[in-house]
Amino acid sequence: MQDKFGRTITYLRLSVTDLCNLRCKYCMPAEGICKKAHEDILSEDEMVMAVEAAATLGIKKIRITGGEPLVKKNILSICERVGKISGVDEVCVTTNGVLLKEYAQGLIDAGVSHLNISLDTLDAEKFKEITRVGNLEKVLAGIDEAIKVGFRKIKLNAVLMRGFNDDEIRALAELTVDKPIDMRFIELMPMVDTQIDKSAYMPVREVLEALPELEKLDVDGIAKLYKLPGAKGKIGLISPVSDNFCAGCNRIRLTADGKFKPCLHAPEEFPIKGLDFDGMLEQTKKAVLAKPEKHGDLTGENISKASRSMNAIGG
Ligand code: SAM
Ligand code: SF4
Repeated sequence: MQDKFGRTITYLRLSVTDLCNLRCKYCMPAEGICKKAHEDILSEDEMVMAVEAAATLGIKKIRITGGEPLVKKNILSICERVGKISGVDEVCVTTNGVLLKEYAQGLIDAGVSHLNISLDTLDAEKFKEITRVGNLEKVLAGIDEAIKVGFRKIKLNAVLMRGFNDDEIRALAELTVDKPIDMRFIELMPMVDTQIDKSAYMPVREVLEALPELEKLDVDGIAKLYKLPGAKGKIGLISPVSDNFCAGCNRIRLTADGKFKPCLHAPEEFPIKGLDFDGMLEQTKKAVLAKPEKHGDLTGENISKASRSMNAIGG
């Protein structure tokens, strides 16, 4: 289905939970979030029905995210059912990797072909600092396991932060030399619960200054792609703050509590909890038609107009 600005919407980001086993400072408050009542969260059947409705409108790619999707008990069943929906040709998962060693093979068996894993630092102390509770070793073991079981594509995502990981750009990028993985650097977005000072924001073009030998490749969706000479994987730069890419946006989002969101940074939401298939279809169409031409400015004192933190949207 096309939105009002002629963009064809083919990609749904489905948040299956807003709960998480980490507490990343850019994403959520230290105390975590209040657990929602069971009846306020979409059931597995409702999630599947919502994807079916979206698929009839031309959604082909589903990214399962959260919160942390791997803390959801029925995650493998959700992945498997979503992947079998007519029209869906790609199921991807975004994870913090903490439980990945245990889940990697199960995800493959459930039909997940693409995996994004968040990795902001290779230093165990810094990892603990940014996630407040995390254990880097577990994530690295999860990444190795994911490579072993053979996903079609694995991407690592780092949020770039001045004074935190700007000194690790090369080390993170060099993971792509020997491993069949891509590394993507993403600009820090000022969300309602971001607990990192805005001065840590840095534009991803600084990666090009840190790695002058990068070879330019094409553009893949919202990422500008590069490669270290001779590397197996690619480097992607994602610039939601410094270089608005909304003209190429092909996505909508569904939150775990059942709200279609036309745009990550807009306050509009279209609830579907408790609706039947036709009701969900109508709300999906409304969400697509409500997509703004582009999100507001995120520089200076401006912050995202979304009233939720990233874990509650499905980043
Ligand atoms: N828990 C999973 C994870 O961390 O990969 C999936 C959900 S998390 C909200 C999805 C992505 O959003 C992560 O890669 C995370 O780094 C990113 N993210 C969260 N808050 C952000 C912010 N303020 N700016 C930029 N990226 C952010
Ligand atoms: Fe959890 Fe992902 Fe948010 Fe970190 S970024 S707190 S891992 S949802």
